[in-house]
Amino acid sequence: MTSTNPALARDIDGKAISAKVLDEVREEVQVLARQQIYPALAVLLVGEDPASEVYVRNKLLRAKEVGIRSLEYRLPEIASQNDVLQLIAQLNADVTVNGILVQLPLPAHIDEAAVIHAIDPIKDVDGFHRENVGGLVQGIEVLTPCTPSGCMRLLQETCGDLSGLHAVVIGRSNIVGKPMATLLLQADCSVSVVHSRSVDAPTLCRMADIVVVAVGRPQMIDASWLKPGAVVIDVGINRITTASGTRLVGDVDYASARTVASAITPVPGGVGPMTIAYLLKNTLVASQLQRGVRTRHSMPL
Ligand code: NDP
Repeated sequence: MTSTNPALARDIDGKAISAKVLDEVREEVQVLARQQIYPALAVLLVGEDPASEVYVRNKLLRAKEVGIRSLEYRLPEIASQNDVLQLIAQLNADVTVNGILVQLPLPAHIDEAAVIHAIDPIKDVDGFHRENVGGLVQGIEVLTPCTPSGCMRLLQETCGDLSGLHAVVIGRSNIVGKPMATLLLQADCSVSVVHSRSVDAPTLCRMADIVVVAVGRPQMIDASWLKPGAVVIDVGINRITTASGTRLVGDVDYASARTVASAITPVPGGVGPMTIAYLLKNTLVASQLQRGVRTRHSMPL
């Protein structure tokens, strides 16, 4: 959707761009089917966290839409770490399963890192295994975290070539901030990473052509943080309570930021749909790598 007021940033339409990605995945799934290859994604949910239930349901629904077989595994909240590890070992060994996704967060008594690193890296469709993290940093084609991959696609569709642009990533988590910064560097941006210890973060941010925000603080970034014309990707998903009920907002104050930015992702409808699309793309790539119809290539840094 383009803004009718030229003074306001245009929306970056994550729904439309994710639909394009899903179409691409669907087409490639059909090509694989002609070779009797049927990609399958196993999703493991431990416990009954309501938000996780919604995420898992959406992932399974989208998988079906693109022709990817999905298998749902549920363990009770009281499942032990060993129960989870045993199931992962079983899925690792199953040649008909190409992707394994463990829905996070796990119950507090289970060590998330131990679970993530138990997944065979070639089935790690979240891209969190240390082998995939290392490959990403070295510029080797690996399974890459879905949210940053989705953000890169939004940026490429919005800006075209990103080479030489200055990007500021706010947040340095393993699942968003760090891989995001690495992918931007790979795309020849100059990259700064801002975090809770950064001194004068707004000044750093005002130097950026591209701002990617993954902080987890509702509406923290407003127009005063932005250079005129900046492109803003808001990864944040926060539920806030207002007089009229609850609603979702990003880490960016959308109404304020769009008076200065040239393009911005809305929340919802921006980054969220891209994350699921890239999960399915990773499942496709994982099955291609496992069946030898795709070979890894190194990306020049
Ligand atoms: P984390 O809590 O793991 O990381 C937050 C990061 O923000 C940390 O690096 C932290 O810095 C930094 N930070 C916190 N406060 C400030 C501050 N005042 N100034 C600058 N930096 C600050 O969050 P995630 O990366 O997992 O998620 C971030 C947001 O993105 C959340 O809202 C989450 O819900 C959303 N999300 C959305 C997804 C989607 O599909 N749309 C997928 C994944 C996440 P430090 O390291 O110094 O503590």
